[in-house]
Amino acid sequence: MLSVHIIGGGVAGYTLARHLVQQNYPGSIKISDAQGLPYDRPPLSKSLQVEPFAPLSWYQQNNVGLIQEEVENLQLPQSAEDWLVLATGTTPKALDVSGGHLARSLHSAADAAFISDVLESGMFGQRVLVIGAGLVGAEFASTAKMSGAQVTLISSSAAPLAHVLGQELAEQLHADHANHGIATLSGAVTEVGPNHVVVDGQRHEAELIVAAIGVEPETALAEQLGLSVADGILVDAQQRSPSNSQVLAIGDAARQENQPRAVHWESAMEDAAQAAATIMGTAAPKRSVPWFWSDRHEMHVETVGDFSKATRTVTRMNRRGRIQTVFGLDADGSLVSASMIDGGLMAKAVRRLIEKSLTPSVEQLKDPTVGPRELGR
Ligand SMILES: Cc1cc2nc3c(=O)[nH]c(=O)nc-3n(C[C@H](O)[C@H](O)[C@H](O)COP(=O)(O)OP(=O)(O)OC[C@H]3O[C@@H](n4cnc5c(N)ncnc54)[C@H](O)[C@@H]3O)c2cc1C
Repeated sequence: MLSVHIIGGGVAGYTLARHLVQQNYPGSIKISDAQGLPYDRPPLSKSLQVEPFAPLSWYQQNNVGLIQEEVENLQLPQSAEDWLVLATGTTPKALDVSGGHLARSLHSAADAAFISDVLESGMFGQRVLVIGAGLVGAEFASTAKMSGAQVTLISSSAAPLAHVLGQELAEQLHADHANHGIATLSGAVTEVGPNHVVVDGQRHEAELIVAAIGVEPETALAEQLGLSVADGILVDAQQRSPSNSQVLAIGDAARQENQPRAVHWESAMEDAAQAAATIMGTAAPKRSVPWFWSDRHEMHVETVGDFSKATRTVTRMNRRGRIQTVFGLDADGSLVSASMIDGGLMAKAVRRLIEKSLTPSVEQLKDPTVGPRELGR
């Protein structure tokens, strides 16, 4: 009997199941995940809330089996009728200092529930130390501050995320933490205790310590199955493993050969759409120009394209002298990326421009009176 077994109920695994249901896949579909009812990760750092993608009844009505288990041993598919899909996502990087394991990560529903309980238990605002000021660390620092905590954000750089947001916007956003009452510390963490962190020899006390220092692809099962793994489970453009064409890998755990690994929500969804096309034997869906968002201090930050390709940036300021958008241009002067604050229309416009290989003049890019729709016209 035809079957698809999806390991991992994150956005990639769930989205694949949804596509297969919508496309009337004639075989059995099951998702294994120890965390139970599949839920979305971005709300964890923005609100500490757990948002399931669909109620249990959706799985029941559509005959999608949900198996609440940590899969430790697997067999490769035995026939061309069976598909195995690894959608195992990422695990938080370990903080490699004395006591590093005592810092809590923020990656799962259980982490969010634990952190939420600690924040709620302090009468006058808990002291919170956040190690790492990347996307998750910065978002959580903002969320904790809004809940009344006294927050200190520790980072090893004055412009964390410069490689994904562009230097200028990364600096402005990091400086904004102080404007919102968050203390920032630049330095190296050398020790963590149950209620303290040592940064550059200085001891800082707190009721809650959260480490958000990045993630690693979860590849243990792929390795156990003997699949090719190199900074992610290697796949081709159809999401197939080069080691076994009945095994697909999607989402944050997967990496397309000769490309950097994408670790964003939308690219995980697009991998899932491609995996559904591979299984159903339908035409490959179109891939978008990369995009992700982040929310902090009531600002919506978006990045389109790839700042690693940019060799120079052009900055557009708003009337209050703050950076609104940073555009990245490559060595040929072509537009390859942009980051913006509260600029949904600009994000759409830049996507269109990159897709069509259009680059507005530097004067147009800089000029805040040239609206997103007029750019490049
Ligand atoms: C706190 C947080 C905030 C984020 N915010 C944003 C954002 O604002 N914007 C953005 O673009 N991206 C954001 N991301 C990234 C985004 O959530 C990920 O890119 C996305 O979740 C990747 O989906 P995935 O399905 O590949 O993996 P995951 O969501 O990590 O899901 C993988 C699942 O696989 C399961 N699994 C792993 N191994 C096994 C096993 N052996 N057996 C059974 N199950 C297993 C895990 O339990 C997990 O549920 C955020 C991530 C986090 C953690």
